[in-house]
Amino acid sequence: MAATLKISGWGGYLKQDAQVLTPLSLNACTDYVKDTQAIIARGMGRSYGDSANAPTVLSSLGLNHFIDFDDKTGLLTTQAGVTLRDILSVVVPKGWFLPVTPGTSFVSIGGAIASDVHGKNHHIAGTFGQHITSMTLLLGTGEVVTTSATELPELFHATCGGMGLTGIILSATLRLFPIKSAYINLKTIKANSIEEACEQFEAHSQSTYSVAWIDCLATGKNLGRSVLMVGEHADHGGFDLKIKDPISVPIHTPAALLNSLTMRGFNHAYFAKATHDKAQTVPLIPYFYPLDAIGGWNKLYGKAGFVQYQFVVPKTNGVSNMRTLLTQIAQSGAGSFLAVLKQFGAANQNLLSFPLAGFTLALDFKASTSTIALLHRLDDMVAVMGGRVYLTKDAVMTESTFKKTYTQWQTFEAVRHQYGAVGKFASNQSKRLGLA
Ligand SMILES: Cc1cc2nc3c(=O)[nH]c(=O)nc-3n(C[C@H](O)[C@H](O)[C@H](O)COP(=O)(O)OP(=O)(O)OC[C@H]3O[C@@H](n4cnc5c(N)ncnc54)[C@H](O)[C@@H]3O)c2cc1C
Repeated sequence: MAATLKISGWGGYLKQDAQVLTPLSLNACTDYVKDTQAIIARGMGRSYGDSANAPTVLSSLGLNHFIDFDDKTGLLTTQAGVTLRDILSVVVPKGWFLPVTPGTSFVSIGGAIASDVHGKNHHIAGTFGQHITSMTLLLGTGEVVTTSATELPELFHATCGGMGLTGIILSATLRLFPIKSAYINLKTIKANSIEEACEQFEAHSQSTYSVAWIDCLATGKNLGRSVLMVGEHADHGGFDLKIKDPISVPIHTPAALLNSLTMRGFNHAYFAKATHDKAQTVPLIPYFYPLDAIGGWNKLYGKAGFVQYQFVVPKTNGVSNMRTLLTQIAQSGAGSFLAVLKQFGAANQNLLSFPLAGFTLALDFKASTSTIALLHRLDDMVAVMGGRVYLTKDAVMTESTFKKTYTQWQTFEAVRHQYGAVGKFASNQSKRLGLA
């Protein structure tokens, strides 16, 4: 199947007229890759910037079959276009859960591997790629290979986090995590500053899940005030997932509705409403995927769209560096509501994987010239601090920032060269970042 469509990332800021090819079989996939000069895989389009945008994209959503599931070992094999939401509805009733999950379930397996996504448990479980026992990959040569941490390991470590630039992931085997119910025991902790928030992450480093909502518009003594949520899988409550269809945002909201006044008001109310040291048991779906309840929430930012910005700074000097960056963001008055702060554990071996031991902050900015200028300033500061910006969220990073902060990019390029990916797999992002 082929169609000409206007596509964009989830932020809607960078748009592209594209030929979208949707193969329904491996043979069709191979033919498309052989017949096309340059192509990039695309899953659910939940990456925010232009990593799944190109003049020709190969949608993996036609590759949507489950292949095998062993409910004794939790090993699940699916095609790459199967979504995390599809998987949850099958495996949770059987007592299994995703070992790592991002903040939306509308993500394909291919996209989760290509971005090497992380969840609220990175400090305990690492990234998604670390739970993939093997995968099949269609190379630029038309050959299909199986790769894992022990089989063609250099290709595996380039593909996990490799943003689709090594080939088309066709299928993967994932090791699931056993659970006793579809509920989470949740504790809410209020922190009055960024220092207190980071102390609380440290104090809860043994908790399976931890994440904080942070008020990026608060200044002075309130700078970085946060509501931390720590969670553990509950052992009772049953396995009913209670998945509801999302309510939708039907049209683009006038961007003026989201100004610094409304966002400040929202943040103030959210912080005031949270109760310190509150314990409760909550269903798994709204805990992990709060935004999935509102279909098309990205339209709230208006037609010009938005950029999501996520950076990580290393643990050493992490708290003071976070204060410096938050001060810049708060002074700009441009930050969003619903900004998210997390603590990361150690980096892995994947060549372009984002996480490294330290603190990470993700927030939205309405797209505008001044916002983009601010992001370039933040990029420079993050780079000097030894951190980096997440590629799956990125829409503006320069080649020089990328090459300074993703220090293994040359090894990545060498692997791409070896496996026939150079010139064959390219996205608008990869061209902007100066990858071949
Ligand atoms: C509300 C929301 C919350 C999120 N929360 C988190 C979070 O907590 N943690 C996190 O890490 N991320 C998070 N993300 C980002 C999201 O998990 C990633 O962008 C993910 O890659 C999106 O998957 P997708 O299927 O939509 O892929 P796309 O957006 O379609 O593609 C993303 C990348 O994957 C590549 N790709 C897709 N399919 C294949 C394939 N078959 N073979 C090879 N390459 C492929 C594309 O080329 C592209 O480079 C969030 C996104 C949203 C919208």
